[in-house]
Amino acid sequence: MNNLNLLIKPSSGNCNINCNYCFYSDVTDNRITKNYGYMTKEIAKKLIFEAFNTDAKTINFAFQGGEPTLIGIDFFKSFHNFVNKLNTKNTIVNFSIQTNGILINKKWIELFKKYNYLVGVSLDGNKHVHDTFRKTFKKEGTFSQVYKNIKLLQKNNINFNILSVVNKNTVKYSHEIYSFFKKSHFKYLQFIPCLDKLNGDFNEDFSLTQEAYGEFLHNTFQLWYEDFKNGKYVSIRFFDNLISLILNNQPESCDMVGHCSINTVVE
Ligand code: SF4
Repeated sequence: MNNLNLLIKPSSGNCNINCNYCFYSDVTDNRITKNYGYMTKEIAKKLIFEAFNTDAKTINFAFQGGEPTLIGIDFFKSFHNFVNKLNTKNTIVNFSIQTNGILINKKWIELFKKYNYLVGVSLDGNKHVHDTFRKTFKKEGTFSQVYKNIKLLQKNNINFNILSVVNKNTVKYSHEIYSFFKKSHFKYLQFIPCLDKLNGDFNEDFSLTQEAYGEFLHNTFQLWYEDFKNGKYVSIRFFDNLISLILNNQPESCDMVGHCSINTVVE
């Protein structure tokens, strides 16, 4: 085994905001154990011990949620202390985190910098687009807080991707969204199609049809390609992978390779 991919959900499905289309809250609502609670430091230590006990040459630790930062920065500091202590064979380790960006502050920035994290932050677009569905429990928009914190990542040269959920509303604003991301100097974009609820009627305000998603990609591609031709390349993961396929190269995203890589989910 060369790579060990651990997808860790230290805060289980807990989140500090309440997006209308939240995929994971729907998953947790439909499984036997809704909430596994926060991961203890003992479990983290055992997990890290077992990981280094394999023959993996590289271990990828990816944190996800719910909202993984909700567990608190002390958990992450302990996690890294255990990694430093238990990595006796000099295994290559990589860290990434997927966050809604709400809690990011200077302390998190220091941690991300120290351990060279790749950070994925969810931002659907400019203010009115993002605030349509990504709201607090009091139904207030979260754009201002998230955008301010992304700027903090940017200022501190943290590697980050923008993850943008494409839904029924965003489809109307592909031009605005792309221009806004460009103006913000965001270089790595991922557009993710919004999923309907498991037992939903596909008729929610956010429900995305195949046609609407196709239209969004088509319109965004025109803008992206025009920039590409003018030497102003922005990475859009889906397009990058399509180009790889067309050129007969191996795409990097597993959905386009045609098979998944093995990920061990720990919650
Ligand atoms: S930030 Fe993510 S986990 Fe939290 S409610 Fe929104 S979609 Fe769900």
